[in-house]
Parts: sequence; structure tokens; C-alpha cells
Amino acid sequence: MFVDDEAFFREYYLDNLSQEFDVTGLSHGKDVIETVKKDKPDLILLDRVMPDISGDDICKELKGNNETMDIPVIMVTQLTDKDDLIAGFNIGADDYVAKPIYLPELLAKIRSRLSAKQLYKEFESEELLNFLEVYETVTTFHSRHEILGLIAKKVSESINATRCSVLRADEDENCAYIIASGEDESVSDLKINLNDFPEIKKALHSMGNIVIDDLTEDSMIEDVGGNLKKQPPGMVAIIPISIRDKYTGTLLLRVTAPREGLSDRDLSFCVVLAKAASKILTNAKLVESLRLANVELEKLATTDGLTGIYNHRYFYNRLDEEFNIAMRYNVSLACIMIDIDYFKNVNDTYGHREGDKILIELAAIMNRTIRKTDIAVRYGGEEFALLLPHTNEEGALFQAERVRTAVREHRFSGLSKDLNLTISLGIATSQKENVKKAEDLVRFADKALYEAKKRGRDNSVLYREDSLAAG
Ligand code: GH3
Ligand code: MG
Ligand code: MG
Repeated sequence: MFVDDEAFFREYYLDNLSQEFDVTGLSHGKDVIETVKKDKPDLILLDRVMPDISGDDICKELKGNNETMDIPVIMVTQLTDKDDLIAGFNIGADDYVAKPIYLPELLAKIRSRLSAKQLYKEFESEELLNFLEVYETVTTFHSRHEILGLIAKKVSESINATRCSVLRADEDENCAYIIASGEDESVSDLKINLNDFPEIKKALHSMGNIVIDDLTEDSMIEDVGGNLKKQPPGMVAIIPISIRDKYTGTLLLRVTAPREGLSDRDLSFCVVLAKAASKILTNAKLVESLRLANVELEKLATTDGLTGIYNHRYFYNRLDEEFNIAMRYNVSLACIMIDIDYFKNVNDTYGHREGDKILIELAAIMNRTIRKTDIAVRYGGEEFALLLPHTNEEGALFQAERVRTAVREHRFSGLSKDLNLTISLGIATSQKENVKKAEDLVRFADKALYEAKKRGRDNSVLYREDSLAAG
């Protein structure tokens, strides 16, 4: 069931979810509780912001009511701010999806919630608690190693196994790697020879569960001969976790127990956990790939395509942030605007392409001349800007001069050897009476830059309220 006040999203859900699920919907918040009590949906997609009653309030009420508290709620929200998300989880939402909706993510989250619910139903009280604990913990974990380690540990504890490990098999190499062990958290990527573990080989071939009541007596082991001594007597179960894929390889859960130590229920517990692990890993991979895609997008959006340094957009975002910090903690923030001198001539003489190469080289010079905490951006065209947090006039002038000198001393690859390319720089800092907002800094630095040009170029000028000081 979904609740969303916007017709667009209601249609979106009907179009995209009806094939796989029974979908019903509401367009407003006020009847949700009653409808949920009556219809008992398996899952609720809840819009966070609605005009009559907010998604948060509905969620609180659902989670505070015995009849409805177990129904998974996925919040759909515009607010991707971390604090808002945390607030969302605090009021009991089970998961969230951000608008604009990315369908594979939405489907993965719905499926994983529904299958978890299905799995819960298959277990009775104590097992259910055990399983819940693993599932809940695991879905909030991040690294694969932690997830797998936790599963191995939980299996060990829950069914009294003597050993439990998760293995990644590499059939081509005839070996496997113990990537997590229930007994020893530090184990990762411990190599073993498959000749010593025929039961793993067999599971790999059949891709089904293999249970051997007593390893030392099983006929399958005959040809292994002497190697068998390495394995203690007892019962062994091998359960594939996920089918082969190019990232995980083949994962298997290997459980050893004293002879007759595993009941059918124990085994099915392992099987369910292995299934859950496979789902979690698939989801974790999806989430990770989404995260990487986001990082990539974010990077693209804030990077200048030509020079690879930050762009104008990033500059203004950072400027706001740094300006707020400077005001709040009463520290100085400096802004330096930079413009190449007579760049038009360079373009006219050497061509636009050579001009572009110079811009790239110049960006690199700036980046290696500034300090780690300073930020260099291409402001546009042949103009650059520097943001220098915690820097007063004196410091800013010093840094500006360092950059100016580094540029004038650099031999640009496309230019004739005796030609010095120079830049002019205008500096403004935040601790000035008339700097009221972030934009003032840029405006004053620009004025100072204009003054630097007027004074003959290849110099740095500090903005002053009354006069402009040269560097
Ligand atoms: P000055 O700043 O010293 O007054 O002289 P200037 O010749 O640099 O004058 P101005 O800043 O007005 O001219 C900017 C020139 O920079 C115009 C254009 O030819 C060149 N330019 C701007 N953006 C680019 C760019 O992306 N690539 C190249 N190759 N040239 C650019
Ligand atoms: Mg210019
Ligand atoms: Mg110029």
C-alpha cells in the first residue's frame, strides 16, 4: 500500500509495482490508520511530506499501535539530509527511499522487506528471535566481511556447531578462501586446498546443500585418503550462499558439528540464513553501487570539465559553508580572485587549444601551491578563485604571492621559453565591517582584482574599505 498526495507518484507506483505486487493506494494521510487496520497491507510506502498530516506522524502512530507496528514502513522522502533521515528512523520507519525514485532501489527495498517478513513467518519464537537479531543487525552493517562474520558467528552460537565458516571457492584454482569464521573474527582470506575438502567440491558441483553425517565414514571421501585426517570427525553441512557471480565468486557456508549434532531445524535455520545472506549481499552491492554512482555524479557536478579542479558551483556551495563557519567562530576567511593577464593575446598567438592547455597547467600549479585546506576553483573562462579558511589578510597576501610567483616562474609547455605568463590577484577577507554576507567577499575580491589590473597586472591587491593595498 502506498500513501502519496501527488498524483504523479501514485501513478508511478501503480505503473511500476502492480506487476509484482498487489498495490493499493491513498492520496491523503488522514484515513491511513483506519485503512491499514482494515486492509492489513504487507508493507507501506509512505510519503514523508503531505499537506494534511505528515508521514512522520502517521509512521509514529502506526509504530505505536499493536495492530500495525509490525508492518514495514518505507518512507519516501525529498529530504536526503542526514539529520532528517535519522529523525525518520527514530520514529520507527524501517527504511527510506529518496525522491526522485530510482526504481531498482525501490524494488530491492520492497522485496527485501517482504522476504524478511516471509522468512519471519517460517520460524517459531526462539528461532525467530535469533533470526530477527541477525537480520536486523546485518542490514545495518556495511562491510561484507562484517556481515559474513556475523552470520558465521550466529550460526555457530544458535545451533551449537563446533565450527562455522563462510568460504569463497575458486574452482579453477582448486582452492577456497575462508573469508569469515564464527570462531575467529580476524580470519579473512585464509586459503585452503579443495583436495582436502571433498564435500566443498561436491557442493560446488551440485550447487545444492550437502550434509554428511560423519565425514570419516562417508564413501565420498575414500579417494581423499590421508588428507582426511586433517578434518575432525563429525557432521558437516555445506550450504551455498549465493550462486556464482563475478564479484563474490561462489560463497558457501560450512558448518561442522559433533556427530548427530544438527537437527533438521538447525539445518533449515542455516539454509534460511544463507538465503538471507545472499539477499543482504545483493542489496549491499546495490546500495554500494548506488553510493558510488552518487559519489561519481556529485564529483561530476562539482568538477570543471577542462581543468579537473572544482567549478563555480562548488565554489559557491563551499563559500556559503565556510562563510557561516567564519562568522560563527569569528575566524577569518579569505577569498582570492585570479585573472590571467593578456590571455586574449595568448589565444590569438598560439590558438585556443594551446590556451586551454595553459588553463590546465595553471590549475595544476595552483593546486600544488596552495595548502591542503585551501580550495582552488575555476571560476569561469580564464578566471580562477581561491578560498582560504582560517586565513587573515596577511596570510592571504602571502599565499597570493606564492601562487603569483609560482605562475610567473613556470615555463608553460606550449609557450615560447622567454614568455612569462602572469596573473593578477584580488584579495578580500571576512573580518571587515562591511562584509555582511558571503557574496560581499567575492565582490570585494573582484574589486581588488580590478585594481590589480589597473596598477599594471602581475600583482596582488588587498581590498580595503578606504583604499586598496598592493602586495
Ligand atoms: P586582462 O585580463 O589582462 O585585462 O587581459 P585579457 O586578455 O586576459 O582580457 P580578458 O580577461 O577580458 O579576456 C579573457 C580572454 O580569455 C578571452 C578569451 O579569449 C580567453 N578565454 C576565456 N575563456 C577561455 C577558455 O576557456 N579557453 C581559452 N583558450 N581561452 C579562454
Ligand atoms: Mg577575464
Ligand atoms: Mg584576463
